[in-house]
Amino acid sequence: MAKRALITGITGQDGYYLAKLLLDKGYEVHGLVRPDHYDVSDRLGDITDRVTIEHAELTDSLTIRVIVERLQPDEIYNLAAPSHVGRSFSVPESTIEIVGVGCLRLLEAVRQASPRSRLYQAASSEMFGRAAVSPQNEQTPFHPRNPYGVAKLAAYWAVVNYRETYGLFACNGITYNHESERRGEEFVTRKISMAAARIALGLQKRLTLGNLDARRDWGFAPEYVEAMWLMLQQPEPDDFVLGTGVTHSVRDFCEAAFNRVNLNYKDFVDIDPALVRPSEEHLLVADPSKAARVLGWRARTPLRDIVAHMVDADLSRQRRALR
Ligand code: GDP
Repeated sequence: MAKRALITGITGQDGYYLAKLLLDKGYEVHGLVRPDHYDVSDRLGDITDRVTIEHAELTDSLTIRVIVERLQPDEIYNLAAPSHVGRSFSVPESTIEIVGVGCLRLLEAVRQASPRSRLYQAASSEMFGRAAVSPQNEQTPFHPRNPYGVAKLAAYWAVVNYRETYGLFACNGITYNHESERRGEEFVTRKISMAAARIALGLQKRLTLGNLDARRDWGFAPEYVEAMWLMLQQPEPDDFVLGTGVTHSVRDFCEAAFNRVNLNYKDFVDIDPALVRPSEEHLLVADPSKAARVLGWRARTPLRDIVAHMVDADLSRQRRALR
């Protein structure tokens, strides 16, 4: 019989790539979507008709429990979150409500109504925040520096507790930034790839950014969903750091993106101090050696190729819109 998976946040970047991966493996895929989000075809595109949509807020324990009880999913992937760190400063309470308590609600539903379900929690490098050491691994102490990181940490510990206390197969994937042509436009990578494409086509004149020297460990999203799946196929549940182990600056990303369209970023980029974050973490970079050792997983796509993929996709999209 086909395995059944439930993905929260299926309309997001990772939700799409994960759903595609699971469908290719023959899974029956269900996606949890907010009740006000009825038309998911804009987000799910070619896979819209191959997934079953379930409607629930992550703030609604009863409905979540009913869905989990009815589906008895083999695997649950909790990817739903207001994923933007910058924005979490202005909505701290709803961030912890959806990310932290939301994860707890799912765990409770699994414990009470479907204890054989395996659960993947999308944890985040933001939990390391002002990390004392670099690179970070599964033993590195946490020190989140923004509401998003605090909320993800609450969810992380809920997962560990339900694993240790109730024996649930629940795992945290501590992912560093991972990008693709499906990345939201509020993220700096997509903002840059879009701007490079639009400027090359004469649709935009300038690009305004914040801190160009900020560094990130940027990987390629379609590879990260493979690691999520691998984690749930192991004999024992465990937590893993997922990243590339290499950092690049926002400036590096800009340079590569504008080079892709034969332009020099220096001719187009303005700096707005208002876009610089209230607090920025230091040297967040993954030590993904445990994932390599146990899961056989490695990030494979170098930044240059990620940039090329994103800029090319935005060029095609913008050209289509022009026709
Ligand atoms: P994050 O790692 O989840 O915060 O991902 P982002 O893509 O939003 O930000 C990555 C880094 O780029 C952060 O250090 C930002 O401060 C920096 N950055 C510089 N300019 C911008 C900008 O215009 N927008 C965003 N979102 N980030 C910027």
